[in-house]
Amino acid sequence: MIDLRSDTVTKPSQAMREAMAAAPVGDDVYGEDPTVNRLQEMAATLLGKEAALFVPTGIMANQLSLRAQTQPGDEVIVESRSHIVRYEQGAAAALAGVQLHWVTGQRGLLTPEQVEAAIRPKDSYSIQTKLICLENTHNSGGGSCYALSTIEQIGKVAQTHAIPMHLDGARLFNAVAATGVPAADYARPFKTVSFCLSKGLGAPVGSMIVSDQPTIEQARRFRRMYGGGMRQAGILAAAGIYALEHNITRLKEDHEHARRLALVLQKIPTVSLDVHSVETNILVFDVRLQSLGRSAADIIAALKQAGVLINALGETTFRAVTHLDVSAQDIDEAGQVFAQVLSR
Ligand SMILES: *Cc1c(COP(=O)(O)O)cnc(C)c1O
Repeated sequence: MIDLRSDTVTKPSQAMREAMAAAPVGDDVYGEDPTVNRLQEMAATLLGKEAALFVPTGIMANQLSLRAQTQPGDEVIVESRSHIVRYEQGAAAALAGVQLHWVTGQRGLLTPEQVEAAIRPKDSYSIQTKLICLENTHNSGGGSCYALSTIEQIGKVAQTHAIPMHLDGARLFNAVAATGVPAADYARPFKTVSFCLSKGLGAPVGSMIVSDQPTIEQARRFRRMYGGGMRQAGILAAAGIYALEHNITRLKEDHEHARRLALVLQKIPTVSLDVHSVETNILVFDVRLQSLGRSAADIIAALKQAGVLINALGETTFRAVTHLDVSAQDIDEAGQVFAQVLSR
């Protein structure tokens, strides 16, 4: 089976498992797990921030970042198809008690003008904007990357209004691999940055928050409140260290594979996909299902029958994701399957 549903399906390699088995551990709630501490130092250094916190999931990383920087009743600017809006079960409302202000970007990317226009006036009767969230790469936007200059300009807008920014960088290293912008440069305008170890980087579990020391201390307290304080978590952190040391530079391969698949998909008459929109490891494409007389569910089932797994994003929209457990040969095989299934 060629699994293109997500880069979350990656399994730890033998070498990663050995690193996990050999990891020295302690009780991380007491701050005594040496492997967790080492991972946190590595992540902070890599992103040019003071401190970092290891958490179980990317959602918890986003939600602790929101909770640590807002009060109930505050407003937070987000892109309308962002992960925080679509896939976090209303946690921003349920746990942080904030109101989300949706702004729709091009392929998920906001402009400085859009952000400026969304900031509420500082009068006594308007709701107050207390945080600006960006997503890089943007998942629903098809793995799209921000230009560093755009992020810096949005950062200037935020600074002018004294509003901190959070980056949902679940796939930040895919943006780094695609653009060549160092992670620390991307991270600079943000007070908090989250990223996932469990996606293209190939760790089985885990995400990071990086920020300044006081914000990380706040986040650590809320992590405990949210039930995310883990004990001998060094077993998991060791996989994260392995991922940061070995799996960042190879993300380029996933991007090449995505482009290779895009070139095949583009030639299928029922598919609409702009190859230039495939910047990283995510392909989002439309299929003219009416001309095939089939539903998205039919297509997913037929692809599965032929050995390829993908997800539907909407009624006629599909998403395929490349990752470290998919080889160039898998991509060529998948291309043939797409061509067959989407032509009959
Ligand atoms: C996957 C993802 C997350 C976090 O997901 P978890 O499943 O909680 O690890 C957050 N943001 C984006 C953009 C993602 O793609």
